[in-house]
Amino acid sequence: MSFEQLHLIAPIADALKKKGYTQPTPIQAQSIPVVLRGKDLLGCAQTGTGKTAAFAIPILQTLFLMKRGGDWNPGIKALILTPTRELAIQINDSCKAYGQGTGIRHEVIFGGVSAVPQIQALKKGTDILIATPGRLLDLMQQKVISLKDIKIFVLDEADRMLDMGFIHDVRKVIAQLPAKRQTLFFSATMPAEISGLADSILTDPIKVSV
Ligand code: AMP
Repeated sequence: MSFEQLHLIAPIADALKKKGYTQPTPIQAQSIPVVLRGKDLLGCAQTGTGKTAAFAIPILQTLFLMKRGGDWNPGIKALILTPTRELAIQINDSCKAYGQGTGIRHEVIFGGVSAVPQIQALKKGTDILIATPGRLLDLMQQKVISLKDIKIFVLDEADRMLDMGFIHDVRKVIAQLPAKRQTLFFSATMPAEISGLADSILTDPIKVSV
């Protein structure tokens, strides 16, 4: 399997070449076509497998094509929820690297630091928001963030959300998402509570395991 076979748009294909990626990892080869088709995805994969690019690349491509097709508004169109600040920063860096030529905007928010610069950045608008649950709920309550335009939702490291005690916050976020959306659900393990959550938020998902 090569990246050419995935029919990526030129700005993303060029960015991958620049990064020196020659072929997709197994999770990327399996996930990217599914996400580009608009299907829900249940991915069993750990950090280190190339999971971030497996969702970031097709999200950037989908939004780029939406924008080019004129189906566009200023709202946040993709939400990536992840448990830690480190993961949030890493996902944001990946969006920057893969999406540099796409014109798709991304911002990252997490707790433990002042919300003021994050609020300032969000006021300029963003297409993709990468967030940890607590700070997201905080800024939703302050009406800085609306999830009404979300088309794609990623729940990253769902089992770690449970371990870290964030699952209640995650459910509160999900309750605010539009019912009509694409959902990508990633977890390294599938304990009963996590597979129950997956069942309740995914519609006819394609299952990918690496
Ligand atoms: P992740 O599992 O998303 O944390 O990615 C693990 C590491 O693999 C990161 O440093 C990525 O930059 C790198 N990586 C992701 N996809 C590829 C690829 N197709 N070829 C080479 N390296 C990759």
